[in-house]
Amino acid sequence: MSVGALRSGTAAEGAEPSAELLRLLADLIAIPSISAVSNLPVVDYIETYLAGHGVTSRRLYNAASDKASLLATIGPADAPGLALSAHTDVVPVEGQNWSSPPFTATIRDGKLYGRGSSDMKGFLATVLAAVPDFVRHATRRPVHLCFSYDEEVGCAGAPDLVAATAALAVPPVLCLVGEPSSLKVARAHKGKFANRLIITGKGGHSALPHRAANAVNAAAKIVVGLEAIGASLATITDDAFEPPYTTVHVGALHGGTALNLVPDRAVLDYEVRTIPGADAVAIKARIDALVAEVRASLKAQAPEADIVVEPISAYPGLDTPADLPAAAKLARLAGSNEAPITLAYGTEAGLYDEAGIATLVCGPGDIARAHKADEWIGLDELARAEHLMHRLALALGDTPSDPLF
Ligand SMILES: [Zn+2]
Repeated sequence: MSVGALRSGTAAEGAEPSAELLRLLADLIAIPSISAVSNLPVVDYIETYLAGHGVTSRRLYNAASDKASLLATIGPADAPGLALSAHTDVVPVEGQNWSSPPFTATIRDGKLYGRGSSDMKGFLATVLAAVPDFVRHATRRPVHLCFSYDEEVGCAGAPDLVAATAALAVPPVLCLVGEPSSLKVARAHKGKFANRLIITGKGGHSALPHRAANAVNAAAKIVVGLEAIGASLATITDDAFEPPYTTVHVGALHGGTALNLVPDRAVLDYEVRTIPGADAVAIKARIDALVAEVRASLKAQAPEADIVVEPISAYPGLDTPADLPAAAKLARLAGSNEAPITLAYGTEAGLYDEAGIATLVCGPGDIARAHKADEWIGLDELARAEHLMHRLALALGDTPSDPLF
């Protein structure tokens, strides 16, 4: 079934999303904004849509000017308000076996399928669909729309956007990141840093290994060292997380081409996921010392040998206090009275938190469906998110029955 002729009218309090929300989501999914390509087509789309509702937005370009974040404010800029954060990029679909075209929103059995439906164009479309609501109601407190790029490749686009948001005349007092949480309010997640080690040894015949420097052996020493560092970090725990400790993980190790050759190159990718309070800088320094030690022994065998460290991604953890009053209020507005949860995945939320803006994660959809073939979001989930946006808009109004702050 196509989305276009699906529904009419609005879904003020119904179990179905509005036709406008479905239209916006279908349009967003149809723009294949995977992180490897420019996101400017999706930025153009959003900018034009906002302008159609009288909302001006500001672009923050990357260095190459082929990607941009968008920042827009609706309501009084001289009052503390609410930031709504989403990323515009999606992960690729290569090698995935989809039942329907991934960049065409397709509805089957109450589910809308398409790349980004859960992560996180569903939330993005819900925010856009609520823009008329925000224009009408956000008269006492503003809402700031913060849309980034390159979230899926290590939160590369968010830092500039977060800095611009924090530098607003009156910065927001609360940020809501709409990553998929089944609309549960999440207050914390681990931080992460990931690096690639490019290990260069010295090749040679396997019969004469003493004249060479084995890059795979060096990589193996680093793997063992990383495991030991991980074991030492596992003694410090925080039961709010699973597992309740900082983890050190090697995700890829490639090296060597043939048995009769000493490998002259190995490439190793590792990541560290830190619980709140863990000192990521100190952990990185321990790992760097391990790498330096292995580098020195490799160089002792062959002066031209080296190990180069390339950063892959890094983002801070999120650790908003569980008793933040806005957390309970947001949960109520989202139709739940559950205590805030912690997440097993990372988001841009830690960056806002780090910039001094209290931040929570709450969005429709489920992270378990993200990044996979047949990614979907429930129409009921979209409808609930639409209600949340409506209630948030009212909460920013002149006479809110339940002000968020
Ligand atoms: Zn996401």
